[in-house]
Amino acid sequence: MLIVMKPQASEEDVRRVCEKIVSMGFRAHPMPGAQRTAVGITGNPGPLEPEEFESLPGVAEAIRVSKPYKLVSREVKREDSLIHIGPPTGGITIGGKELAIIAGPCAVESREQARAAAAAVRKAGASLFRGGAFKPRTSPYSFQGMEEEGLKILAEIRRDFGLLIVTETIDPENCELVEKYADVLQVGARNMQNFSLLKRVGRSKLPVLLKRGMSATLDEFLMAAEYILSEGNYNVILCERGVRTFADHSRNTLDLSVIPAVKRLSHLPIIVDPSHGTGKRDNVIPLARAGVAVGADGLIVEVHTDPDHAMSDGYQSLFPAQFESLIDQVTAIAGVLGRTVGHVR
Ligand code: PEP
Ligand code: MN
Repeated sequence: MLIVMKPQASEEDVRRVCEKIVSMGFRAHPMPGAQRTAVGITGNPGPLEPEEFESLPGVAEAIRVSKPYKLVSREVKREDSLIHIGPPTGGITIGGKELAIIAGPCAVESREQARAAAAAVRKAGASLFRGGAFKPRTSPYSFQGMEEEGLKILAEIRRDFGLLIVTETIDPENCELVEKYADVLQVGARNMQNFSLLKRVGRSKLPVLLKRGMSATLDEFLMAAEYILSEGNYNVILCERGVRTFADHSRNTLDLSVIPAVKRLSHLPIIVDPSHGTGKRDNVIPLARAGVAVGADGLIVEVHTDPDHAMSDGYQSLFPAQFESLIDQVTAIAGVLGRTVGHVR
């Protein structure tokens, strides 16, 4: 259920509604909007009576939310969510007019490799740096990441290049360590339904980049995000990274039609990963262009200065010069849509 407050409702009125919800044993989620505040209710096993709330001062109406996902839905929050990353006085906001460009290698392999990639993507105009220190690999014998040493290298990159750090947390146990170094916690495709991890990042103060599972439907994707919001973390950025289909010309099939579908159903921002989405270097720029054209709020792209010797995903990593060209092209497309490429302040 959603309690919609009157535009003139006071903070006291909102607090009274929240207290009532909590006293009933449920969870209250106040969501301030441009016109009015709404309060979402979760944890109720069945429908509630609207009258219970409509008699309280400041309440305009109590409405039932028809979708299975509540807090991520546009029924609960009409305006697009703007998610701030980085320090309150600087950083970047995702979900508004500015596109967020995240770039860097698949994995942190060494200080030299990560710094070379950081210098290249910074020069080209990225504002966030990606790189896994913990890698969920298909084979237990593949490179698993540099772990805390890799996280320390990422923190140096933030300090020295002014890039914000996006890096993956692979289980609830390693989340605390990743939180110490990251600006955004990435939850990978393989973990989209790792419910204990979703709950754990839901209790984090950091924004979460949630990648779509390889065979997840739109409802499953939004329900995974709902797990995070239901724990109190409303700062979730969705990411389309391709799904498994019968197509064998690419690693995955980048489902760009999910972008407008998500925009219709949810207020959360969504970005596109054309690297994992195609698995082929030559396809990354065309699909990045398409992702921006279809309305994505940003891109996450793998870039390596020596992709032929990368320890993971080299074949889909762009050379720095290609990444520069990608930025030029998506900047032009963004302009047509009245958007710009964002930069860290
Ligand atoms: C990655 O970003 O390197 C990664 C492992 O992505 P995904 O979870 O989408 O496969
Ligand atoms: Mn990768």
